[in-house]
Amino acid sequence: MSKVIIVGGGIAGLTAGIYAQKYGFESEIFEKNAHAGGECTGWTRNGFHIDNCLHWLTGTDKKSSLYRLWEDVGVLGNGIETVKFDSFYTSHFDGKKAVLWRDKERTRKELRKLGRSDGKVIDEFIKAVTALEKLQLPADKPMDMMSVIEKMKLMMSMSGAFRYVKKYGNMSLKEYVGQFQSPLLKQFFTDYMNGSFNVLSLMLSYATFTSGNGDIPKGGSLAMSRRMEEKYISLGGVVHTNAPVERVNIDGTKATGITLKNGEVIRGDHVICTCDTDVTFGKLLDRKYIPKQLEESYKKLKCHSAFQAAFSVDDECKFIQGTEIFPCREITVGRSVFDRMSVRSYRYEPKFSPVGKAVLQAYFTQNEDDYEYWKELYETDKKAYEDKKRELAEEIILGISAQYQQINGTIEILDVWTPYTYTKWTGAYKGAYMGFLYSPKAHEQKHISGKILDNVYIATQWQQISGGLPCAAVEGKFAVQRIEKVGK
Ligand SMILES: Cc1cc2nc3c(=O)[nH]c(=O)nc-3n(C[C@H](O)[C@H](O)[C@H](O)COP(=O)(O)OP(=O)(O)OC[C@H]3O[C@@H](n4cnc5c(N)ncnc54)[C@H](O)[C@@H]3O)c2cc1C
Repeated sequence: MSKVIIVGGGIAGLTAGIYAQKYGFESEIFEKNAHAGGECTGWTRNGFHIDNCLHWLTGTDKKSSLYRLWEDVGVLGNGIETVKFDSFYTSHFDGKKAVLWRDKERTRKELRKLGRSDGKVIDEFIKAVTALEKLQLPADKPMDMMSVIEKMKLMMSMSGAFRYVKKYGNMSLKEYVGQFQSPLLKQFFTDYMNGSFNVLSLMLSYATFTSGNGDIPKGGSLAMSRRMEEKYISLGGVVHTNAPVERVNIDGTKATGITLKNGEVIRGDHVICTCDTDVTFGKLLDRKYIPKQLEESYKKLKCHSAFQAAFSVDDECKFIQGTEIFPCREITVGRSVFDRMSVRSYRYEPKFSPVGKAVLQAYFTQNEDDYEYWKELYETDKKAYEDKKRELAEEIILGISAQYQQINGTIEILDVWTPYTYTKWTGAYKGAYMGFLYSPKAHEQKHISGKILDNVYIATQWQQISGGLPCAAVEGKFAVQRIEKVGK
């Protein structure tokens, strides 16, 4: 039986491990952190649980091929419930509000009332979202392993969506909102994703939500990655935690195995690198092995991350529906200035907080400049870094208290983290946890297949521009299918 070594125990690594076991390989995962899960994680502070990742999981629709994958790896199915929100997000504007509801007709009607001269643009938005509901991420096998008939079937099933993919993949949200007359709607459509994203990223996320294909598995991110780890172990896989890998050992065009940071050499027949590609190329493997397309993307494309803070509230916060965005006093986070803030309530998971209380998380998008700010501050003066985090969290409390006066005086800081936290935690390039920013420029980038050397593969969200959990998982599965194809 040949042996597969998997570097990294995030969602890509755990998925690769589960399929390696299912396909009859012997496999071991080596993870640098104390537990598996990577960016799909959560942690507890003062009896409250902070969920780091899941805002939606694409693939909760039982008819999708992605659902079958999530079922295979223990994320969905088997009685695991999902949380279904009524709204994708809500924006507040001094007394008025706009909402992207699960019910598209309700969204259309309400937005039309807010933007009386914008009916045409709103109708086209809903039409595009409806067409994009058909778009599916292929999860059964990689495109290059599909027969012509399989490819045709796939294309036919999504045919109505392509004109919108082309049109809105190449248009930024900043350009898009120029079509609206209503200043309120201009703001609304750049509130959740800022103007540098393409329109498709917003439409597609909303379409995933409206079609019931983007709900949240009960228990949240940590529970999700734990179930995957348990599944992997139950199939005979071995997870080594606190086991940072130093390099992949290469002999000619083949890998012989890996060397851990503690000097231990592990031999194997195949190696799948599932960590951030910035770690893989330059640290685990010589940079010369980087796929050309990925190298180009690093040069051409931008990344984004976030500054986040979690708070406990002495109230259930029933008046906050999922993610809400509202005006606030001007606040500089990193090097960017904001006059609106985004807050998410986690009361949909009663186990995340003691009875009668809630966790709120505030989120500010950060660009590469902001990342450099946090990195520099951390590396030059750790105390100043911590002080800045606290100062911002206190300012956020003022903002939340002004918006929801009923909880004024009951909000406490639980934790604050920056884009640089993700670099420290997983090695994330520029703190980016969704791959490259899905901008008009990024839209043209093609899928990176993942075979690096004869028996070395990558499996990571960075192979597909939209990034996220589904990309990480399908690439984990595809890497094993490629190994299986060339023979055990
Ligand atoms: C705030 C936030 C919100 C998000 N929301 C969503 C969402 O709603 N929906 C969605 O689909 N996605 C979301 N994501 C993105 C999602 O979490 C990621 O796309 C996914 O978890 C990436 O998985 P991965 O396995 O490719 O990478 P990672 O999670 O980075 O896993 C790589 C693993 O490799 C390990 N590693 C690194 N270097 C080494 C080494 N030298 N040796 C051994 N191990 C190493 C790391 O510690 C890590 O565990 C969100 C992420 C964040 C942070």
